[in-house]
Order: sequence, then structure tokens, then C-alpha cells
Amino acid sequence: MAKLLEGKVIAEAIKEKIKQEVALLKARPVLASIQVGENAGAASYVKSQAKVAEALGIEYQLHKLSEDTHEAHLIDFIQKLNANKSVNGIIIQMPLPQQIDYKKISQYILPEKDVEGMHPQNIGKILFGKAKILPCTPAAVMELISASGVDLYGKEVVIVGHSEIVGKPLALMLLEKFATVTVCHIGTSKAGKLEEHVKKAEVLIVAVGKAGLIKGSLVKEGAIVIDVGINRVADKIVGDVEFEAAQLRAAFITPVPGGVGPLTVTMLMRNLVEAAKAQS
Ligand code: NDP
Repeated sequence: MAKLLEGKVIAEAIKEKIKQEVALLKARPVLASIQVGENAGAASYVKSQAKVAEALGIEYQLHKLSEDTHEAHLIDFIQKLNANKSVNGIIIQMPLPQQIDYKKISQYILPEKDVEGMHPQNIGKILFGKAKILPCTPAAVMELISASGVDLYGKEVVIVGHSEIVGKPLALMLLEKFATVTVCHIGTSKAGKLEEHVKKAEVLIVAVGKAGLIKGSLVKEGAIVIDVGINRVADKIVGDVEFEAAQLRAAFITPVPGGVGPLTVTMLMRNLVEAAKAQS
């Protein structure tokens, strides 16, 4: 039976360190959060971010803009936050209304204040192994693997999902640790090759958003399974991996919820403190 990699528990230890670093800063660090329109998902992220920020001594400023906000107005708003010296980090809540292109907008955040680690300059630094601000979810995945105590050097790591916020940056971060990385995506599935890759994974990371996509019986004996997926099925939150069956085969597995999620918020706060330190 696999041991649980509980993000909640791991996050507590990291939060203690963050608190100590906050206490050493001259001024209370400030995270500006922009929410455009009303959306249940965004509202729930905001709530949990605000709660964690408060517990860590971080000021969380929520800026709510109306659903019909134009891109130009949002860019102007971001630039004002960029120029505001008391603001250390900026986050844009997802999802955004249709008229706003996240990729375009996110580039207007100063790289020094990009606490989501998604500015091209920060993403580019990952390629050279020089990033101080890492994208939050991939950083959370790396912390979970590290908590297992397993060394990634030479390991067969398979990532399912190649999104810009999870799979792609994570592949670069794993290469930095000398893992042998395979990235699967819709093309892999359509070619009927997903199973063969999953079966060989010593570390399996799934970030797709499809409940039950990975059958537990495919998980390699003794593998580490990190399930990033979040799916609502009949009033329950589940991941992308069949948890019960996978737990019988893996050595370590993340629960959903309580795995990657709580650590992702913690990584956001860690980035904010890094940003505040660099700015001072
Ligand atoms: P995206 O929709 O951006 O990416 C999903 C990826 O899965 C794409 O690369 C897509 O390929 C691929 N994919 C889709 N179907 C298949 C398939 N049948 N086989 C293999 N690959 C497939 O999602 P995100 O990366 O934003 O999020 C993924 C999941 O992780 C979601 O459930 C999300 O809610 C969750 N999440 C959780 C976080 C946390 O903190 N716990 C944070 C961020 C995300 P293609 O694009 O080519 O179709």
C-alpha cells in the first residue's frame, strides 16, 4: 500500500520557514490579486489565498474588476500596480472573461512581480537553471517528489499533460535534476501509446483534468504517483488517476484533494517572499 504524500502536511513545514522570512523583512509583503468578473472557481482560489496570506503575515489586496473590463483597462491597471512600490507581487485570477487573453496580459506584469512565475523571462530562466521564481504548480510537484526522499537522478519520469502552466515547465525542472523525462499529451493518447508510457514510469505525474484517465492497474509497482488533476464527480473532488487501484501498486501517491493543491498556494506565497526580498 502506497504512502500518502500529503501536500497539506508538507506545506505546513514550508509555511513555518516563510513566516520566519516574512518576519525578517522591513515591511509587510503585499500580494495584489486581480479578479475580473464573478466566477465561483476564481472566488474560491481568492478565498484560500487570502487565508494562507493572512496566516503568514502577508497583506492580500484583492482588486475586483467588472466582467466587461477591456484588455486595455486591465493593462493600465497592471501597470499602476507595477509602479506601486508597496506592491511586491501580482497575480491574475483565472478564468478570465472571453475578451481578455491571459497570455497577452500576463506579459505586462513586471518579471520581478510575477509571483506565478509565468512571465516569459521567468520561464526562460528555468531553461538555464537560474529561476528564483518558479511556476507554482510545478514547484509544488517538485516539493512532493522531494518529500518522498527518492532521488530523481536517472529516473524514468512520465508527465501526462503538456500545458504551459504545468507539464512544459515541469519537464524543464525535472531535466535539471537529471531525470529521463517523457511528456505525453493528447497526441500520445490518440496514437494509442499512453498506456505503454505510463507503465514504464518510475515517477508518474498526471495533469490533464479527466477523471479516471489513468487506470490504477497501469501504475508501475513501487512508482511515485503525483496527481495534479482536479475533477468534480458526483459532488466529490477526484484526480485523474484511479486512486484506490493505484494506491495498491505505488510506493507513494498524492491524495486528491489534499495533495498538490495546498502546496500550490504555499509556493505562490514563497514566490512572493522571494520577490519582496529581491526588491528590497
Ligand atoms: P490544460 O487543459 O491546460 O491541459 C491539459 C493537458 O492534458 C493538455 O496538455 C492536453 O493536451 C492534455 N490532454 C487532454 N486530454 C488528454 C488525453 N486523453 N491524454 C493525454 N493528454 C491529454 O489543463 P491544466 O494544465 O491547466 O490543468 C490540468 C489539471 O490540473 C486540471 O484538472 C486542473 O484543474 C488541475 N490543476 C490543478 C492545480 C492544483 O493546484 N492542484 C493547479 C493547476 C491545474 P492538448 O492541449 O494537446 O489537448
